[in-house]
Amino acid sequence: LVSFRGVQKTYDGAHLVVRSLDLDIRRGEFLTLLGPSGSGKTTTLMMLAGFESPTAGDILLDGKPITRTPPHKRNFGMVFQNYALFPHLTVGQNVAYPLTVRRVPKAEQASRVARALGMVRLEGLADRLPGQLSGGQQQRVALARALVFEPQLVLMDEPLGALDKQLREHMQIELKELHRQLGVTFVYVTHDQGEALTMSDRVAVFNDGEIQQLDVVDRMYEAPSNRFVAGFIGDST
Ligand code: ATP
Repeated sequence: LVSFRGVQKTYDGAHLVVRSLDLDIRRGEFLTLLGPSGSGKTTTLMMLAGFESPTAGDILLDGKPITRTPPHKRNFGMVFQNYALFPHLTVGQNVAYPLTVRRVPKAEQASRVARALGMVRLEGLADRLPGQLSGGQQQRVALARALVFEPQLVLMDEPLGALDKQLREHMQIELKELHRQLGVTFVYVTHDQGEALTMSDRVAVFNDGEIQQLDVVDRMYEAPSNRFVAGFIGDST
């Protein structure tokens, strides 16, 4: 679906935050970018989203370069840790926002919003304000907002980071189930090994701006490709 070809990124012209990234994201998979703080995961996701441009290399969507395509033209759903719902808009209006921006007719907006809220099991809460919801419910609203325009790719950066442990574990199961039902491609950034291994089809382990290993979850345990991966994955158990 998406390919990174020799992608590099520096912020200050000297230090390579992403060194030389080759990565193929498969249609329909749940791919997690896992690694310690500062390893370049978020920068990689930001380049995929279009908020940062690579210093070198190309990003292709279905074989066509999107390296310089602005974020709103990529049509990817996005959920980030500080989920930034609009506090003065209702849940329904928050979820409808991407449709309003895309000038989707009102009647169609209503049915799509209802469907998106159903996906995240928030039917009946459309008229509440975000401040009247729990953290987990707010995070589900952010997810509904990312799904409402039926994107082919959903990008998530530590979306559960602000939740307590119990709720986080519950949401992990929900996200995985939602992914299974929708068949949409998810790219998910986390530094939490447990989270990555619970949810993903494949995991890319980052360290120091490079992918150390990209594999299905079981292989990460059975055949870590180097000491870093063995140590980092081993920390979760
Ligand atoms: P974290 O989980 O802490 O976000 P990460 O693996 O996602 O870590 P990045 O956020 O991609 O890592 O950061 C990689 C490096 O790039 C870090 O050294 C960071 O300080 C630097 N960096 C990130 N964003 C910027 C920026 N906008 N300007 C300058 N340097 C940046």
